[in-house]
Amino acid sequence: MYRCVLCDSYALLTLGLLPDRKLARGIKGKKAYEDLLEDFQERLAPPHKTFLLACPTCNAFASASDPALGFDQVKQGEYLRDGLAVLTPCDLVVFDTEELPPVYRDEANQGGRPKYRLCQGVGPAGLELDKSRTGRLHKPSLRPFGIEIRPLDLPDYLAKDSNALAAAVREACAFAEATLEAGECEILETEDKEIIENKKAENERSASVALRAWRDDTCGGLPVLEVWKEAREAAIANASDETRKRMEEARASS
Ligand SMILES: [Zn+2]
Repeated sequence: MYRCVLCDSYALLTLGLLPDRKLARGIKGKKAYEDLLEDFQERLAPPHKTFLLACPTCNAFASASDPALGFDQVKQGEYLRDGLAVLTPCDLVVFDTEELPPVYRDEANQGGRPKYRLCQGVGPAGLELDKSRTGRLHKPSLRPFGIEIRPLDLPDYLAKDSNALAAAVREACAFAEATLEAGECEILETEDKEIIENKKAENERSASVALRAWRDDTCGGLPVLEVWKEAREAAIANASDETRKRMEEARASS
């Protein structure tokens, strides 16, 4: 489960396929299955990592659908199929800071409605999707688990101008993408594989830390779009020339 840094939507991220639990028989089989789940969680759900994902809400914003008129689902579908999706920075959700992000599996019968049940870690036993069929979660259902469910409160300059909103989402995405990619090109000079891997991991971690601080500190823990003017100024002030250039291009393309 992830939360979008820009808009505070909660949605599901597919990490992979798990083998059928029914195959785990006997004490040994069950233990092996538990080990497998734990390994899956450790490998694929690192709590520090910022993912770039196609948040359904931000994609509606970026396609300049007018929020006041509601979102046209057909238009949305065309937009996504045309590969115009924007990828927003997203963090995995933890319900216990000592634990790794929880893993859910879809236990629906074939062809049935998805039914996500907790299979590893700490979190709600089941998850409720909203009606958009985009993998987005029904936010009010997360209230009992300590998640703030207040609706997104966009400032007037974004709420009343769908083009400005689209540009803001695109620019924020370009900033996140450039921040996460920065550093990768610097290290390709050395040949040693291990050094490259370690450096990559280190760069990825510090970029994720920077993006998290953008929301937690610069934006005072609010979703980035709610305080976009301030968030944008801070992003530009700290960005490299390359990042700034990409932000400008993203703005111009919207
Ligand atoms: Zn979003």
